Amino acid sequence: STDILIVGAGQGGVQVAMSLRQGNFDGSITIIGDEPDAPYERPPLSKDYLSGEKTVEQLALRKPDFWHQHGIALCLGQRVNHINADSHSATTDQGSIYYYKKLVWAAGGFARPLPVPGSDLAGLHVIRTRQQVDLLLSEAETAQHIVIVGGGYIGLEAAAVMIKQGKKVTLLEVEDRVLARVAGKEISAFYEAEHRSQGVNIRTGTGVASLAGENGRVKSVVLQDGEKIDADLVIAGIGLVPNYEILKAAGAKCSNGVEVDELCRTSLPDIFSVGDCACHANSFAGDTYLRIESVPNAVGQARAAASAILGAPKPYKDVPWFWSNQYDLKLQTAGLNHGYDETLSRGDPDSRSFSLIYLRGGRVIAVDTVNRMKDFIAGKKLVEQAMIVDRKQLLGTEKLLDVV
Ligand code: FAD
Repeated sequence: STDILIVGAGQGGVQVAMSLRQGNFDGSITIIGDEPDAPYERPPLSKDYLSGEKTVEQLALRKPDFWHQHGIALCLGQRVNHINADSHSATTDQGSIYYYKKLVWAAGGFARPLPVPGSDLAGLHVIRTRQQVDLLLSEAETAQHIVIVGGGYIGLEAAAVMIKQGKKVTLLEVEDRVLARVAGKEISAFYEAEHRSQGVNIRTGTGVASLAGENGRVKSVVLQDGEKIDADLVIAGIGLVPNYEILKAAGAKCSNGVEVDELCRTSLPDIFSVGDCACHANSFAGDTYLRIESVPNAVGQARAAASAILGAPKPYKDVPWFWSNQYDLKLQTAGLNHGYDETLSRGDPDSRSFSLIYLRGGRVIAVDTVNRMKDFIAGKKLVEQAMIVDRKQLLGTEKLLDVV
């Protein structure tokens, strides 16, 4: 038995353990993770690990001896497949039963499978785990033409890496623009133009009907209008399916994820949930329930859960933020642009340094900044305070915050 059982050895689960120890928690902590790797960062998987600039050791969230030193039991390569909330116990696929006082469900999610015929062919890849990326890399070496399905952050980051490696890259996006779900039109247009100028063939409004292959390996991608595009490697970056079925089966209230409150408590006694699998009423989105898939969210929720366990509750209310690196461009976003009714831009996209500010009813609700760190920091504060800003000043001054 263990005092704290954490399911999922990723960003969120690990942060719960670390925050507990930082808060002088001296009970036992056990983390169960189904991947074979010690906890590591995912963001580089589509950036500098994919490009070979970071090694696998550099992905590690902590040095190998950290866990032992801090009395955190890491049980890797095991999957929790049943939870009994009444008896406070979890069972793994290897038949072990762990009794807990508190359980934290930090199970993240898995890459959404491409829902078309032919998706069982070899040569189709996703980017979620280190193992998946190593497999992709082993095949990418000899691949000539790579087709990427999905123009979200991961698809675009992968495209940026692959084109730099001299591959022919085609990116297919079913919406009429890339980043359609997360960014305004100006940001989408900028990134499309950038990728095209780097040589990526971006095709928006283009859906995939099936994959066609030979001897069990993908050879081409068939579009909805019947056109065939040759491909010897396909990467699907079409989103995430949150892992919550096991907790749902245990009786937790779930919608698009495990529903949690500001302290990341689920509807079940002594069970918390954090990170990509958890959904919460977000005050920056008018209290609508949503899941946020980002490192800062996983870390922030983990801190809130740990604070509750430590008996010094600090609710999670952080401004959501995120980053994406493509080429020499650092995109940083703060806030959630849901329901914006106006955008203002600062700087000139041609200078490769500009920002887009999203307003709703005159208040700043989000900012997207490209190579513009100061605007990001200032913008995050404006979002936090839901500032009403004077437009003329906002556009005119050098520093974003000086205007308020
Ligand atoms: P995870 O890190 O996914 O950890 C969950 C772990 O639980 C996994 O190891 C999973 O295998 C394991 N697990 C699941 N079910 C079980 C079970 N039943 N039993 C045991 N273990 C289980 N965010 C940013 O902020 N900026 C970025 O630039 C960025 N880039 C990204 C690029 C890529 C390619 C990816 C995949 C993600 C990126 N993210 C980025 C998102 C960020 O990595 C995630 O939001 C973050 O990892 C979420 O942490 P988590 O702990 O909720 O889930």
